[in-house]
Amino acid sequence: MSLNRYERKRDFKVTAEPKGRSARRASGKGGIFVVQEHHARRLHFDLRLECEGVLKSWAVTREPSLNPSERRLAIQTEDHPMEYARFKGEIPKGEYGAGTVKIWDRGTFKSEKEVSEAMDRGLIEVTLRGRKLRGRFVLVRIQGEGEKSSWLFFKRRPKIVGLRIPTVKKAG
Ligand code: MN
Repeated sequence: MSLNRYERKRDFKVTAEPKGRSARRASGKGGIFVVQEHHARRLHFDLRLECEGVLKSWAVTREPSLNPSERRLAIQTEDHPMEYARFKGEIPKGEYGAGTVKIWDRGTFKSEKEVSEAMDRGLIEVTLRGRKLRGRFVLVRIQGEGEKSSWLFFKRRPKIVGLRIPTVKKAG
């Protein structure tokens, strides 16, 4: 994983955003997540999931929803350093992503599959344990690949458990 794209877009003499280091780490099946409310030119919500020592990132175009029928368009953005999960504050005018960043939600997540493999396949299913986002969520790629690819982010419908169809007893 490389933070080259992240670093190229920013002037760390001007912005207070973390420079970060790229750490090589196994992908794993979970870690931390954060959603940052970003009042840039256009308000969006940056969803970031830990994967191989960096934060995989998506700009979600509207506030994430707990309603499974409200699917959110999420555009993949450049990997961010792990330190970014704690970043909030002001990105100065004229800088990339200028505007206010607030932590909208933060917590941990688990995935049944390796996160990097799930990303490559374009289907990530995670259980989020945040303050706002809790339960099973899905990220599914609908167009493109890598940075700027389009995904949908939504809460999974709960499984119906214990539903049994009664067996009809034969008469006689
Ligand atoms: Mn952003």
